[in-house]
Amino acid sequence: MKPYDLKIISNVRVSERYWHLKLDARPIADSIRPGQFFNIKCADLAFLRRPFSIYRINKEEKTIEFLYLVKGNGTVHLTEAAPGEYLNIFGPLGNGFELKKEWNTVLLLARGVGIATLAALAQEAAANQVTCIAVLSARTNNDLLSTEMLERLGVEVYKVTEEDGTSDVEAVEKLIENLLKANRIQAAFTCGSKRLSKLLQRMAKMVHLPAQIALEEHMGCAMGVCYACVCDIQENDDTHSVRVCREGPVFDLNKVVLK
Ligand SMILES: Cc1cc2nc3c(=O)[nH]c(=O)nc-3n(C[C@H](O)[C@H](O)[C@H](O)COP(=O)(O)OP(=O)(O)OC[C@H]3O[C@@H](n4cnc5c(N)ncnc54)[C@H](O)[C@@H]3O)c2cc1C
Repeated sequence: MKPYDLKIISNVRVSERYWHLKLDARPIADSIRPGQFFNIKCADLAFLRRPFSIYRINKEEKTIEFLYLVKGNGTVHLTEAAPGEYLNIFGPLGNGFELKKEWNTVLLLARGVGIATLAALAQEAAANQVTCIAVLSARTNNDLLSTEMLERLGVEVYKVTEEDGTSDVEAVEKLIENLLKANRIQAAFTCGSKRLSKLLQRMAKMVHLPAQIALEEHMGCAMGVCYACVCDIQENDDTHSVRVCREGPVFDLNKVVLK
């Protein structure tokens, strides 16, 4: 991992709140894993870089893509980055998802911008002929951005939204219960919502399903030095702290202490 100045191919608004960024990543496209992230310098100002998960990796074109929610100062500045300019990104950082060879069918549970993080995993699953079933949750149908892309990859997508009144935890629990009954799901992955992660953790523990979570904690340095992004891991009777940027952002969901 090191800083790279990558040329911006495109940076476009894809919905009311989300933008899509595509970079020429010739020096690094081959070495990035789904679940990893980059710390991006959003502006030539004296504020911290912002972390973003890899959304798509195109190893033929040697490009990488990010999907980002415009939230505050950093992401507002990022929308101003224009094609042809160079963006300074640091990474790839952290540990990515593990997709075991023996898994034939996996479940993805994503909320909001967590869909961006799991999309890269769906891409890898498709390349390895692993069947993916995805439950995508968002405020509105407009925010369910990657549905078509996932469907093109062959992912079986279930959408739940506040707008349609289908996204409350009880409804999602019922949906997952049915999916677990109807399919031989061998592992589950989640990102984007503590509420849904807690639900999946409870269900995964009940049926002894291996599960992984990509955590999004507020970060400072993203290099393991500042300890701004610690979370707790519980193994047997021992609870210890780990850094999301260094030991994560992907963890065993069955061991993470979700507060
Ligand atoms: C590993 C990781 C991967 C991420 N991947 C994505 C992604 O693919 N797409 C996306 O839209 N967002 C992603 N996020 C969240 C993204 O980093 C924040 O939305 C972004 O930093 C907000 O910056 P801002 O200046 O626009 O907002 P502000 O709210 O002004 O940010 C203020 C401070 O809070 C921090 N911060 C705010 N929200 C978050 C958050 N949710 N997580 C961590 N730090 C936060 C910022 O780094 C900054 O230091 C990810 C976060 C992490 C930790």
